[in-house]
Amino acid sequence: MRFRALIGLGGNVGDPRANMRLALLAIDARPDTDVVAVSRLFRTPPWGVTDQPFFFNACAAVETSLSAHALLDLCLETERSLKRERRERWGPRTIDLDVLDHAGASISDERLTLPHPRIGERAFVLVPLAEVAPDFQVGGLPVAERLAGLDRAGIEPASEDGSWWRDAPGDGVAPASL
Ligand code: ATP
Ligand code: MG
Ligand code: MG
Repeated sequence: MRFRALIGLGGNVGDPRANMRLALLAIDARPDTDVVAVSRLFRTPPWGVTDQPFFFNACAAVETSLSAHALLDLCLETERSLKRERRERWGPRTIDLDVLDHAGASISDERLTLPHPRIGERAFVLVPLAEVAPDFQVGGLPVAERLAGLDRAGIEPASEDGSWWRDAPGDGVAPASL
């Protein structure tokens, strides 16, 4: 069974673009998961906790045989391998990998809430999401319509297209340790 899932990526410490790239390469290298579409990279103002450096954000669509919980575990393991440390909620981080959707499932348990409950209020998620899943419904509205009511000030493209994670100059694939 293959599921279509959506992942939101972000970070604002160190080299977020490099971390997001390593995360996508590591996920794509797995036999159980293929990265099938990636948005442009966006530079975005911090949300929630605003006195911290600007973020980079992107969204990816994947096809995976992993369950929703297994995909969450993969995201959390990948964060750990990229040295994420959890301190304050919504605070600075090297990388954040959130499961936004897993084949339309509705889940609410102590580890996982799907669809991700804060997509609809976050232009930094909806702007990249519109590039990989424009028809995805957020609270009953497609992404593009949901975006219409939101402030997207300060969100700027930081790559030409969605190939930014494949084409970093001078190196090849993700380290085997990831
Ligand atoms: P937010 O969820 O508001 O984007 P955050 O991404 O900063 O905040 P984290 O510290 O990355 O929050 O995650 C805290 C916990 O959230 C994780 O340990 C995980 O169990 C839980 N969680 C629940 N639903 C999800 C989801 N859809 N995607 C990722 N993590 C989730
Ligand atoms: Mg998050
Ligand atoms: Mg998270």
